[in-house]
Amino acid sequence: MNCEVVAVGTELLLGQIVDTNSSWIGEQLALSGIDSHHQTKVGDNLARMVAVLAQALDRSDAVICCGGLGPTQDDITREAIAAVMGVDLVRDDGAVGRISRFFADLGRPMSDNNLRQADVPVGASLIPVMPGTAPGLVCPVGDKVVYAVPGVPWEMQRMVGEFVVEDLKRRAGITAVIGSRVLRTWGESESGLSERLQAEIERLDASGDATIAFLASGWEGLKVRITAKADSPAHLAAVLDAEEARLRALLGDELIFGVDDETMESVVLDLCRDAGLRLATAESLTGGLIGARLTMIPGASDVFVGSVVSYAATVKHDVLGVPDVPVVSEEAAVAMARGVADVLGADCAIAVTGVAGPDPVDGLAPGTVWMATLLDGEVSTHRMAYPTDRERVRQFTTISALSDLRVRLLRRAQLVG
Ligand code: ATP
Repeated sequence: MNCEVVAVGTELLLGQIVDTNSSWIGEQLALSGIDSHHQTKVGDNLARMVAVLAQALDRSDAVICCGGLGPTQDDITREAIAAVMGVDLVRDDGAVGRISRFFADLGRPMSDNNLRQADVPVGASLIPVMPGTAPGLVCPVGDKVVYAVPGVPWEMQRMVGEFVVEDLKRRAGITAVIGSRVLRTWGESESGLSERLQAEIERLDASGDATIAFLASGWEGLKVRITAKADSPAHLAAVLDAEEARLRALLGDELIFGVDDETMESVVLDLCRDAGLRLATAESLTGGLIGARLTMIPGASDVFVGSVVSYAATVKHDVLGVPDVPVVSEEAAVAMARGVADVLGADCAIAVTGVAGPDPVDGLAPGTVWMATLLDGEVSTHRMAYPTDRERVRQFTTISALSDLRVRLLRRAQLVG
């Protein structure tokens, strides 16, 4: 079984939208053990879409076509697939019902145009998962199949993840399960990590138990992805657990801050919550970014009390009680951490002050940052000197400061536990 991807949309060709759908689908196919040799982008033009779909069906067993399922006149994926199948479009009562219910549930009026989305090629069936207004389609073409899914990424991902991949595996008779687990790290370079894992990578190459790959993710750190194949979900989980334990033994829990969807901020909040600690932040150059990341996490309110964005020197002095010291200094960061914990009534605090750039401040180069972490009445500090652009300095400061607190909370939990 091999399956190729066709992404529809003139805006993809013009560079107005990056075709992230194809890469996401490609990854899912690979993880499911389905070969995929081609990905094509085509504009909203009927003749060219028909030609691309015919070529895809010629060389592959299945095609996933994303985009162009909307209600407007330039959404012509349904027409193109009908032409390739050699059939007409027919209004599907089931689809009419689903679309009408969708609008009724939202309490919004439905235009006649929306019913265009219920026109399906004769012989096609609907994908049972329908997160938005566009029904997805399963269109048989001889012994091959075209799946039509919407272009909107979250709608496409639900349809492909919950239905299309499973349907393809069933058709291909694939029973093995392939899965992966991502260990998220902060504080080590890619070359450093691969050096520390060299022997393990060689062991895996020889044993074939699993593979590991490094994914550099900028200010989100470096991800180490473990992928394995097994004959059942339980066996797969056991293989991934065993490999995670080996990597943890080699890298240590201080370097690995999270697994899969965990983020630095979600982990910090969990550690604070477990310890019954309330957290405050004092932010200068990050202007609230640390607080923003923390409050993205549902349930942050039982840990995070608030932030003082002490951007101006007067706010550092008047609100946080910072003494008359240079605003970018270790002393200022320490005083900010103590000050914000006092003012906001928190048990622990993060404070950052630095030069975001592009211009130097008081002779200090852009990228010079002091971070302070207050925990159990003691303040630790950390100086970062990372001469890069303003955005990176602010983002790296945010994650580094959260990381400093995470490491202290982890050590504290290990001592207590
Ligand atoms: P719907 O009916 O839900 O509107 P659709 O099938 O008509 O979906 P399109 O109109 O083709 O989808 O695209 C809708 C939006 O989805 C685009 O404006 C773009 O933001 C996003 N999108 C479309 N194709 C892709 C792609 N290949 N990669 C990433 N995003 C995409």
